[in-house]
Amino acid sequence: MLRPRARKASYDATEMLNMKRSLLLLLVATSLTVPAVAAEKLIALTFDDGPRPYVLYGVKQPGAAPGMLDVLDRNGVKATFFYMGWRLTPKTWGETPHETNIGVTCLDAAHDVLKRGHEIENHTYSHADLRKAEQKKGEAWVLGDVERGAEAVKSVTGTKPVWLRPPDWDLADDARGDLEKHGFRILTISGQNPVAMRDINSLDYLCAGKGAGCPKPSLAQSVVKVIEQRERHGVYTHVLAFHELTTTTTQLPELITALKAKGYRFVTVTEYARLVKN
Ligand SMILES: [Zn+2]
Repeated sequence: MLRPRARKASYDATEMLNMKRSLLLLLVATSLTVPAVAAEKLIALTFDDGPRPYVLYGVKQPGAAPGMLDVLDRNGVKATFFYMGWRLTPKTWGETPHETNIGVTCLDAAHDVLKRGHEIENHTYSHADLRKAEQKKGEAWVLGDVERGAEAVKSVTGTKPVWLRPPDWDLADDARGDLEKHGFRILTISGQNPVAMRDINSLDYLCAGKGAGCPKPSLAQSVVKVIEQRERHGVYTHVLAFHELTTTTTQLPELITALKAKGYRFVTVTEYARLVKN
């Protein structure tokens, strides 16, 4: 009788060890995941209309804004850039007269953006207003422009982008439906998307140039205010739509610091969509 008892005793010991291990794993998993899930306050920071090398790296002039990429790096933030396909063609550096040629091509900048851990998605090839273009040229042209933009992004990233932000969020329902059938996911400011996947229009383009219409008291503070309003409705995940602008870059440190202080974590759009499960 001794041997079976001994065997039973040893079996119990193993069982106990396994139980202890399971409990330990559970505790580790709980301590690692529960705070992140419970306090899953997420920001997907996005920038349209690039690549604009003079914004990403800054211009070498006294008093000029720092480069957007360095600002993001310094703050440990990964963002998503929505690029126009035409810029991702060889030797393109931007366009006159509003942009400065700093001797870096858009294509080289895009590769660097990717290397620094950011995501690149699709903002069409031509940046045409897709609703108006559909009226003038037909839906096939719209689908073609989006596909061409996707191919341009793929030439940099190696994979076809899924996310599309139509210029000015303007897209007719039929084209939207057909693009979704082709595997694209559309970012919009309209109620077509659930609130967590609905872009927050930062209005940062109003701060460019003379900036007369720039939100007061500052772009950063007005965006924080919008987020606080959404929080009051129980929404703690936000897609922020900005542009590649120097006036936006100068507001980023204040905005990022304020949002981090509120407990937000910055993720790319792909990561964001996975985490909010939309
Ligand atoms: Zn745009």
